[in-house]
Amino acid sequence: MLKEIAKEISSCRLCKLCETRNKTVPGVGNENADLLILGEGPGKNEDGQGIPFCGRAGKLLTKMINISLGMEREDVFITNVVKCRPPDNRDPLPEEVESCRNYLNRQVDVLKPSVILVLGAVALKTLFDDQSLAIGRSRGIWRDYKGIPVMPSYHPAFLLRQFTEKNKDLVKKDLEMVKNKLKSEKIEI
Ligand code: URA
Repeated sequence: MLKEIAKEISSCRLCKLCETRNKTVPGVGNENADLLILGEGPGKNEDGQGIPFCGRAGKLLTKMINISLGMEREDVFITNVVKCRPPDNRDPLPEEVESCRNYLNRQVDVLKPSVILVLGAVALKTLFDDQSLAIGRSRGIWRDYKGIPVMPSYHPAFLLRQFTEKNKDLVKKDLEMVKNKLKSEKIEI
């Protein structure tokens, strides 16, 4: 159960991030979600509230879910590769990612999502355990994780920094592919 995993995370002391966190951020959403959205790690807002993507980037993500996917936040499950905030919003260290990997794997096993949307380079590299992956070259191309189709796309925080028509169009295209894949997976069932 996702609740049990969240409870374990709340008392986790496997890496040093536990010393500086305020709240753990295990993930939020629907246990029966077809879509898992995976980000990098909690920021300041998330650390304060214990909810992923609840700051500025989160607002944009919510718009992306509503407008481009035609879904509500409550329809999907949202989590991060690390469940505690890296200080000063730095990238999570390899040992922090490793300590957290088991939680993510178990969340994926419980959810059995039809599709995973991976946001940004850090989440992409972590999920596939491959530091050579680049988000610019990987986005828009389906990958496979344990038999689950994975769509990499730009992180909403990156979009906020580089809010160009080109980047917006690319993300819209990625989300359109996710939407269509979710539809086709439903028809197969
Ligand atoms: N960025 C992320 O990757 N995850 C969050 O939860 C918030 C911002």
